[in-house]
Amino acid sequence: MDINLITEILSRKILKENILINEPMKKYTTFRVGGPADIIVKPSAIEEIQYIVVACKENNVPYYIIGNGSNLLVDDLGFRGVIIQVYKNLSDVVIEGTTVRAQAGALLSKIATKAADESLTGFEFAHGIPGTLGGAVTMNAGAYGGEIKDVIVSAKVMNQDGKVYELSKESLELGYRKSIIEKEGLIVLEVTLDLAKGKKEEILATIKDFNGRRRDKQPLDKPSAGSTFKRPVPKEGEMQLYAGKLIEDSGLRGFRIGGAAVSDKHCGFVVNEGGATFEELTKLIKHVQDTVQSKFGVYLETEVKVIKN
Ligand SMILES: Cc1cc2nc3c(=O)[nH]c(=O)nc-3n(C[C@H](O)[C@H](O)[C@H](O)COP(=O)(O)OP(=O)(O)OC[C@H]3O[C@@H](n4cnc5c(N)ncnc54)[C@H](O)[C@@H]3O)c2cc1C
Repeated sequence: MDINLITEILSRKILKENILINEPMKKYTTFRVGGPADIIVKPSAIEEIQYIVVACKENNVPYYIIGNGSNLLVDDLGFRGVIIQVYKNLSDVVIEGTTVRAQAGALLSKIATKAADESLTGFEFAHGIPGTLGGAVTMNAGAYGGEIKDVIVSAKVMNQDGKVYELSKESLELGYRKSIIEKEGLIVLEVTLDLAKGKKEEILATIKDFNGRRRDKQPLDKPSAGSTFKRPVPKEGEMQLYAGKLIEDSGLRGFRIGGAAVSDKHCGFVVNEGGATFEELTKLIKHVQDTVQSKFGVYLETEVKVIKN
């Protein structure tokens, strides 16, 4: 892989200020962890994403898509290849009636605020989730009884050959914190949502209530990637278990390895207490998984995505 060559190829189409070399990934993740990426590119048009994807493919260069990096844990060695950040340069939001059309880089808080301004209900759940719409569709993000699956109509996506097409809600295969996007290595470009007419004061009050609950329960003052583990899937006839409760009942509240810790405010969150390394965080996550498995016979699958090559 020739980084100078791929940089030169990208700069033929993309503004120099949107191509960053040897850039620390910790600046791009809410965990504040991660070494340098060879290249981070911030496209500002679908054609640019297409150009990057095709250039990487033709030159055998690995690439990875990120949004706001709020669900990522990146290796201290960084990433060899190209990180494509779909974020502020692709973040337009247009509302017509009850239909919201937004580019994948739009933050959920921005879309929820615009929807509230137009008295549209159905997206209040997403206001406090610190990700982009592209990341949220990929993860089928959800909170307080709502999820992307409830409001999405379709998404415009790109495959690994640079082909652009529309996927309906059904073909997105949205499940608990998963979708077809990661499975097939697709890129979310634009999304259509369908909301409902509501009362602005009620919508704003719901957002305020949800955000208050987050502040009360979650360690929002410390770098993290949100809930580190998924809710375990209950076997037939069993009740729903919760990762945070299982971790707490395993005696791991506040458990620490170096700068990595199980939050003492919410045991489902692994936090960076300051200077945590990738190794400390992955060791801690493994320790939590092993302890819960041996105490309760339940395997806690991670919700956080690990970037390591
Ligand atoms: C404090 C805190 C609270 C949180 N609360 C919640 C919550 O209540 N509910 C919840 O579901 N999540 C929550 N999260 C996790 C996270 O915010 C969501 O998963 C969010 O949807 C991730 O969006 P992102 O843009 O940050 O994606 P990233 O973290 O950048 O990426 C996440 C995944 O999506 C992929 N991806 C990102 N953009 C695209 C794109 N355009 N096309 C294709 N793939 C893409 C990445 O490759 C990666 O696999 C929380 C995180 C934090 C830090």
